[in-house]
Amino acid sequence: MKKIQMVDLISQYEKIKPEVDRAISGVLETAQFINGPEVRSFQSELESYLGVKHVIPCANGTDALQIALMALDLKPGDEVITPSFTYIATTEVIALLGLKPVFVEVEQDTFCIDPSKIEAAITERTKAIVPVHLYGQAANMKEIMKIAKDRGLYVIEDNAQAIGCRMEDGTMTGAIGDIGCTSFFPSKNLGCYGDGGAICTNSDELAEKMRMIANHGQSKRYYHDVVGCNSRLDSIQAAVLRIKLRQLDDYIEARRKVADRYDAFLATIEGVQSPARNSYSKHVFHQYTMILEGYDRDALNAFLADRDIPSMIYYPVPAHRQKMFAHFGSDSADLPVTDWLTERVISLPIHTEFDEEQLDYIISNLQEFFNNNK
Ligand SMILES: *Cc1c(COP(=O)(O)O)cnc(C)c1O
Repeated sequence: MKKIQMVDLISQYEKIKPEVDRAISGVLETAQFINGPEVRSFQSELESYLGVKHVIPCANGTDALQIALMALDLKPGDEVITPSFTYIATTEVIALLGLKPVFVEVEQDTFCIDPSKIEAAITERTKAIVPVHLYGQAANMKEIMKIAKDRGLYVIEDNAQAIGCRMEDGTMTGAIGDIGCTSFFPSKNLGCYGDGGAICTNSDELAEKMRMIANHGQSKRYYHDVVGCNSRLDSIQAAVLRIKLRQLDDYIEARRKVADRYDAFLATIEGVQSPARNSYSKHVFHQYTMILEGYDRDALNAFLADRDIPSMIYYPVPAHRQKMFAHFGSDSADLPVTDWLTERVISLPIHTEFDEEQLDYIISNLQEFFNNNK
């Protein structure tokens, strides 16, 4: 049996190798490594895929979030509402810009920010909400957009884990808020072969500003209007992404099939909650994360590891309990659901390249663990 991995990028590459190798050679032959035609083509192809007016490619997903926040002209000490139950990048950029992250609770079943808890966190200094479409499923954007509209707040979607996720009305995550941010880190659902990211928006004004910020605040060559940064997607990554974007819906379908297998099995196991599928979006399963109630998580992790099955805790420490935010006093935030989930979640391998033998093997081992540890 082929070795089981959290993400199998080698098998995936083998299937698109001729196309990818040709595209990379093409870039090498033209030596247009930065801002070449591949970047422009990828940009417009992603705009049509997402149904959004502007895509601004950049160096990574963290930069995308940073540039988005920089474009809002916020003042030091302004507050940004975000979940604590997320990857650190979401919250780190807020603090990096001298803003204050205000951590809001997530819903226990969807792992995404709980809209009913947002209102109470809003103060006079609140300027934006950054929902995260965690593990590949959309946050409740309808409710979030309603609150933002009522209270005059910006919404920046962290779409790094959910690119390709459609809402019930057909719109895509990342294209709903004022700005959407995504990452093309290799293991993401649309991953390149290095670092990459993108920002999207339907606002001409924000797009122009973010393009400028990502390019040293330059309005025309060697004229710099604002302090910006240097954040670019390179042409080799864009060439790879163009090929993988054409496969993205199939990749998502392959992930969903794996999730269906896990779901069907877990339905028979008491004390394990499979990931909820909300009614308003179609999960793209960046991660398959279950909640263990009454089973020892470390024991499961060790049992699986012993049988060459990887599993991961995303994430072992929530943002509000990270040392980097100690000066905000975030540690005293009352986020019981976040803390509860942090102690109980565990993610199983999920990717686009599973074969039946591997899935059978994972499931029979899970069965053995759950039988023996009842
Ligand atoms: C991966 C990720 C990011 C950051 O992306 P990078 O490309 O690694 O900088 C931000 N937010 C979330 C939720 C992520 O999963």
